[in-house]
Amino acid sequence: MNLDGIGMTSLRTRMRLINSLRDMGISDEKVLSAMMDTPRHLFVDEGIASHAYDNSSLPIGYGQTISQPYIVALMTQIMLNDRKPAKVLEIGTGSGYQTTVLSKLVGSVYSVERIEPLLKQAKRLHYRLRLRNIYHKLAKGSTYGWPDAGPFDGILVTAAPQTIPEELYAQLAPGGRMLIPSGKENAQELYLIERTSNGFTETSIESVRFVPLIGKN
Ligand code: SAH
Repeated sequence: MNLDGIGMTSLRTRMRLINSLRDMGISDEKVLSAMMDTPRHLFVDEGIASHAYDNSSLPIGYGQTISQPYIVALMTQIMLNDRKPAKVLEIGTGSGYQTTVLSKLVGSVYSVERIEPLLKQAKRLHYRLRLRNIYHKLAKGSTYGWPDAGPFDGILVTAAPQTIPEELYAQLAPGGRMLIPSGKENAQELYLIERTSNGFTETSIESVRFVPLIGKN
């Protein structure tokens, strides 16, 4: 594997992906350029690397998936809201792809994952890519997120609970934005939760399909 891409083909296919994201309504040039700069083929198995720049989710093992690029771009764009949040929490490191895109756009990323081998692999890749503003943690199952490191200016949840866990609200700083899918397996909706000076607002964004957020047990 090399870090630059699979030759020119990958640059061209990456550009094609970025153009289709633009066509689908992603307008934040910083997000588009962070995704242009991120070698997604390194985050999937070599056997499916030729599909890495398709606009689709792909298996990463352990029954989990790397999110669809459009969804990564959409969640990131809405969370940023044309600003540069200092501290962002990601729940569900998975392959580490979304973490990498975030690390180029925010002060620092705190990412938690419950499957240890996935977390280790993502950590190794972030180290190789010399991303120094990412903090990793194995999710213990006794709590959601990373309460000790919060509150966060942004929270991205990349797995879907049936209902939004109460304790995530408390990890959002005033003025902060959380993007979270929620609902039953075939009827999930992506929500934007904003913390305002007098509480929380909830906006429904669009229908989505995520792997389930595993609860505390
Ligand atoms: N952002 C990832 C998407 C990974 S899929 C990427 O870009 O590749 C969602 C991930 O959430 C899975 O790896 C799953 O193991 C993890 N997950 C599910 N429930 C979790 C929980 N309660 N805490 C932390 N991670 C969780």
